[in-house]
Amino acid sequence: MEGTVLRIEQGALYDGAGLRTVVYLKGCPLRCAWCSTPESQSKLIEKGYGQRMTADEVMDEIEKDDIFYFHSDGGVTISGGEALIQADFTREILQKSKYIGINTALETSFCVPYSEIKKVAPYVDTLFVDVKIFTDELHKKWTGLGNQRILTNIRRFLIEYPSCEVRIRIPVIPGINMNVTELLMIACFVADLDHFVPLELLPYHRYGMHSYQTLGREYPLGDTPSPSFAEMFELADQLARTVPHLPVTTLAQTFIY
Ligand code: SF4
Repeated sequence: MEGTVLRIEQGALYDGAGLRTVVYLKGCPLRCAWCSTPESQSKLIEKGYGQRMTADEVMDEIEKDDIFYFHSDGGVTISGGEALIQADFTREILQKSKYIGINTALETSFCVPYSEIKKVAPYVDTLFVDVKIFTDELHKKWTGLGNQRILTNIRRFLIEYPSCEVRIRIPVIPGINMNVTELLMIACFVADLDHFVPLELLPYHRYGMHSYQTLGREYPLGDTPSPSFAEMFELADQLARTVPHLPVTTLAQTFIY
């Protein structure tokens, strides 16, 4: 089976446990204003971004770092764009990886029909899901779509696949969701879930600006600054204090009370 791959990165440290190979796929239903990989949004190959590959070709790349996975408890992470836009291709890579004993992780927005999630679920060891904004109208304003499907998919997934490790991430964006009211609504949603799910705050960054220039697109957030370390720690601490027993992690430090 063939899919459209944006790029494959070896030796990644921040997309799951240990050393990982991250396979970035093209195509995404959302258009987040802060997106750092605008070249991943279209499913088409554009301006030299992306290539068609078979699942076996991707596996050849993944297997090159077999020895590092073994020594670091690492594995493969499928990311995007939104990897579940190519759910059959994603399933094939995850299934083949599991078959040869490689740990698997998936980074997703969950903004897809649940039928696509079911295709990959049995082959995912760790799932990273973004909850970007809790207020539906704001989610629609800043990402292009509402969030009801995402929240419903998370609740259903946790009931149907309790053995999968799930982690929820919030990209913290100044001027959009970087306020306690919005973040607290997400934290309460996570704390109310049927299973234990930790929360991770990721600071907004501007690494994708070059890609906007290459694509001939305007950068939507202009001069929005990245949050400081101190601001991120303060927010994580405040959420953890307000929602007891919910581990909130940011920049490798965990707050829990
Ligand atoms: S979900 Fe991710 S890849 Fe898709 S637009 Fe948002 S930030 Fe970009």
